[in-house]
Amino acid sequence: FPPEDVIFDPNIFAVATGIEAHNRYAVDFIAATRWIKENLPGARVSGGVSNISFSFRGNNVVREAMHTAFLYHAGRAGMDMGIVNAGQIEVYEAIDRTLLKAIEDVLFDRDGKATDRLITFAEAMRMAPAERKAVRSRWREGPVEDRLRHALLKGVTEHIQGDVEEARRKYPTPLAVIEGPLMDGMDVVGELFGEGKMFLPQVVKSARVMKQAVAWLMPFILAGRDGSAPAKRKILMATVKGDVHDIGKNIVGVVLQCNGYEVTDLGVMVPSRTLLDQARKHRVDAIGLSGLITPSLDEMVNVAQEMEREGFTLPLLIGGATTSALHTAVKVAPRYTGPVVHVLDASKSVSVASSLFSRRQRPEFLSALSREQEAIRVRHATRKRRTAYLTLSVARQNRFVASRAPGIVQPRHPGVHVFTDYPLAELRPYIDWSPFFATWELRGKMPRILDDPVKGPQARSLYQDANALLDRLLPSGRIAAHGVLGLWAARSRGDDIMLYNGEKRVATLHTLRQQAKKTRGRPNRALADFVADDRTDYVGAFAVGIQTGTLAEDFRRQLDDYSAIMVSALADRLAEAFAECLHERVRKDFWGYAPAETLINADLIRERYRGIRPAPGYPACPDHTEKRTLWRLMNVEQTTGIRLTESLAMYPAASVCGLYLAHPEAAYFDVGLIGRDQVADYAARKGMTVAEMEYWLGPRLNYDTSAPQ
Ligand code: SAH
Repeated sequence: FPPEDVIFDPNIFAVATGIEAHNRYAVDFIAATRWIKENLPGARVSGGVSNISFSFRGNNVVREAMHTAFLYHAGRAGMDMGIVNAGQIEVYEAIDRTLLKAIEDVLFDRDGKATDRLITFAEAMRMAPAERKAVRSRWREGPVEDRLRHALLKGVTEHIQGDVEEARRKYPTPLAVIEGPLMDGMDVVGELFGEGKMFLPQVVKSARVMKQAVAWLMPFILAGRDGSAPAKRKILMATVKGDVHDIGKNIVGVVLQCNGYEVTDLGVMVPSRTLLDQARKHRVDAIGLSGLITPSLDEMVNVAQEMEREGFTLPLLIGGATTSALHTAVKVAPRYTGPVVHVLDASKSVSVASSLFSRRQRPEFLSALSREQEAIRVRHATRKRRTAYLTLSVARQNRFVASRAPGIVQPRHPGVHVFTDYPLAELRPYIDWSPFFATWELRGKMPRILDDPVKGPQARSLYQDANALLDRLLPSGRIAAHGVLGLWAARSRGDDIMLYNGEKRVATLHTLRQQAKKTRGRPNRALADFVADDRTDYVGAFAVGIQTGTLAEDFRRQLDDYSAIMVSALADRLAEAFAECLHERVRKDFWGYAPAETLINADLIRERYRGIRPAPGYPACPDHTEKRTLWRLMNVEQTTGIRLTESLAMYPAASVCGLYLAHPEAAYFDVGLIGRDQVADYAARKGMTVAEMEYWLGPRLNYDTSAPQ
């Protein structure tokens, strides 16, 4: 039997029966499940769930909660399927906390009194349903200020319009509602976030409540003309020209807004001209730039230069995954007289903004900033290079050589394969959730993060929102997955890889080689080393993307930034899942060099398969211009709708591309810094000028382009 056709049922028996020998039935099932999943890869686990709560027959509230909690924990241990009345389960997160605790004490046999406690609790739970509902909605009974505060803190939009309307009638002016109870609530949110007691997703949900409240009041403010909206500090935000990544920027925008700043967001791919014109037009107090891919670092320098040239003095905020305090201090700040501040993440953005705009803190903040940046520059200029570098030709002599014959397999289905409207339901199980939590500034590994004593509740609620949105959107027809992959005969020549269709060479891929001197016999690698140079080998490539149309925009228009950001974050996850799913199909079928592979998703995430899919722009192949070759080879834009911006970012942003290399010893590595000799050699091989190559490889150069040779 293939392992995945074997289903174990390690038996679920009733707990809390009053018989001590039964107390461990739940823990044992969970432990058995975990053991099976760890030791018998591929095998499935099932169980008859309703048994667990047999001793609470007649008390559906407790039974449902027990089933839910048990399924939750058994599922996380790896249980694949179970038998349960689907009408008798509820949402884990929605279970009353006290009840849940009592149940989990029983399920995990935490102490000898657990059963008694649950029974006592269950008796008390037998109160009328109406009574229970009352407990849940008690917060609705307080004065309107308390209700607004509760709604803001908990992110509840359900009653916001009614409550705001009530407050509007109570307060002298609509503006007073904003400046009074609403701002008070948001201040608490801001404080708790600053203290790390509230997490980013909650803050974004609070902001959604605030936005909807303000939107309700706006017509009254305008009609009453009681002074326009309160004067706020204005911040202009944009993702720079050539870049399309905006999740981080959108999150920062929301967080700033809920801390009382007015944010004008110019969107993505914004040229410096537009940025500066808009800054003047809106008379903003600061400009925030965001970008993710390496060419954006240069574009930020360019914007700073333009601001200087046009006499701006506004603070410039720099953020995004590839940006750093180092890059900001060394490359950006020297080009611009005004303050240039690197903003690490959303939680930092608030303190940076408040220091910049507070008359009291500003001088101190700015002098500390320039001292710090000067120190960084000095350290950078005088840093000791511990690494020695080799010339390209010496590095080439130390190339990677396979320790055994790689076992080249000819693809079963060579050529280009297009996947239009790939079934989304098939992609969902391939999602790697850990980066999703990181996007929301909750760092931790899935599934452990769900149980984290501090982040757990927030992670669970975020996870639940994400899945609810997926449930809704995947079948809606508003998300589409298009992809393409190709497999060709290939042979390496030096650091290049030539691709063939029959006898005809269809493309040459160019790879870069590590030049740092290695110790302990380690090779100086280039991706070309993983492709045979003395016989016919094979190489693949792919590009996949998730199109979400106007979904995020539509949510934003409904004043729901939380869902808008969620859409982008999930689209990113689905794009990665798509890449993972296609890669698996390539290994098992299209190429077929690992037909018998049976890995569960956790193993796919850990990359426990043979072969790699290096992505242009990443450390093993940092040159983004190689994407142009892939686009031409597979006609990517026409087949998938993914296009390349002038900085060679993929647009829409939820896209992934890469090569497929099947060599059993193929591994990811970092090319590191490269010398003039390699840049010249590489430029010649690619038919580009050295200056062009230096532009694209900027952060990789092991020399200063302004210094004489
Ligand atoms: N499970 C993750 C997968 C993405 S990160 C997610 O859902 O986000 C891993 C991918 O990044 C790899 O598959 C590869 O395409 C790319 N990658 C990682 N390290 C790399 C390197 N050193 N060189 C080239 N590509 C790399």
